[in-house]
Amino acid sequence: MKRILTGLKPSGELTLGSLIGGIKQSILYQDKYDSFIFVPDLHAITVPQDTVLLKERIKKNVALYLACGIDPNKNTIYIQSENLYHTNLSWILECHTYMGEASRMTQYKDKTSKGEIVSVGLFTYPILMAADILLYDTLYVPVGIDQKQHVELARDLATRFNNKYGDTFIVPEPLIPKIGAKIMDLQNPTKKMSKSDGDTKGSILLLDNEDVIRKKIMSAVTDSDNKVYYDMENKPGISNLLTIYSALSNKTIKEVEELFKEYNYGNLKKEVANIVVATLMDIQKKYQEYLNSEIIEEILNNGNKKASEIAKTKYEIVAKKIGLGRF
Ligand code: ATP
Ligand code: MG
Repeated sequence: MKRILTGLKPSGELTLGSLIGGIKQSILYQDKYDSFIFVPDLHAITVPQDTVLLKERIKKNVALYLACGIDPNKNTIYIQSENLYHTNLSWILECHTYMGEASRMTQYKDKTSKGEIVSVGLFTYPILMAADILLYDTLYVPVGIDQKQHVELARDLATRFNNKYGDTFIVPEPLIPKIGAKIMDLQNPTKKMSKSDGDTKGSILLLDNEDVIRKKIMSAVTDSDNKVYYDMENKPGISNLLTIYSALSNKTIKEVEELFKEYNYGNLKKEVANIVVATLMDIQKKYQEYLNSEIIEEILNNGNKKASEIAKTKYEIVAKKIGLGRF
C-alpha cells in the first residue's frame, strides 16, 4: 500500500492553518493510503523553546490530531525524538547535501536575511525532514505551499542516493491541497498564518475559545471596496476568509463566492466566524475527552514500535550500502 506521512511541529499552538493545510489533508487520505503522522519535536528545537511548554504540547498535539479526526486505527502515530533512526539517517543525508542547496532553503534564508541569529539546526532541518520522509518509503507528503521546497530537497537527496548506491529510497511527492495551501494571517493577509511568530492576534488557535475566535475574525483586516469576491492579489483579506469558509464547508471557492455575493463584509465575517466556531468547538470537546483518557499512551507505544521497526530496517540497508559499522 502506498504510504503517506505528515508532521506538525510542536513549536507553538496549532492553528487553523495547521488544520486546513496539514491535518485535514491527512484525514482526507487516511482511508486510501498507509498513513503515518508524527510529532516532529526535534524540529521544534531548531528555535528556542520553553522546555515545560514543549513537553506539554507533544501530548496535547497528539490529542488534537485525534480530535480533528485522525483515526488511530488507520494511522501510525509516533514521536520523532523517541526514534533515533531519524537523526542517524539525517546525518548520512547531510553528508550527501551540498552547502549551496541547503543555503537556498527559504526558512534559513528569510531568517538570516533579517539579521536574526540562527542555529545550525535551523540550517540543516530540511535534511532531517528528508530523513523523516525517506526512512519510511513515503510516497506522498501532504504539505502547505511553504513546505514544498523541502519535499523537493527530499526528492533530490533520494535520487542522488539511489544513483550513487543503487535503488534505496522511494522518491516522494508533495501533495498540495487545492484549497487552503496557504491560510493567511488575519491581521496581515499577505503573510502565512503561523503558530510560532509570537503575536497570535492574526492566528486562530485550535484551542481558542468562542469569544476570542469571533473577535479575531470580526477584526480581520480587509479592504474598503465592500464587494465580496475572490481575488488573492487585490483582496487578500476577503479571499482568505472565503478560503477558510470553503475549506471548512467543503464547498468550492466559486460556490462560496456565489453564496456570499450580496453580503457586506460584516455579515460575511459573521458567517466565517460561525463555521470556524462550529468546527473548533466540536474539536475542543473531543480534545478534552482524549486528553483525559489513557488511550494516547497506548497509541504512542504502538505507533512508536511499528515506526521504529520500519526505520531500523531501512537504516540498516542504508548503513550497509555506504560501508558503516558491521552491517
Ligand atoms: P512554524 O511557524 O513553527 O513553522 P507552521 O504553522 O508553519 O509553524 P509547521 O509545523 O511548520 O507549522 O507545518 C505543519 C504543516 O502545516 C505543513 O505542511 C505546513 O505547510 C502546514 N501549514 C502550516 N501553516 C499553514 C498555513 N497557514 N496554511 C496552510 N498550511 C499550513
Ligand atoms: Mg512552518
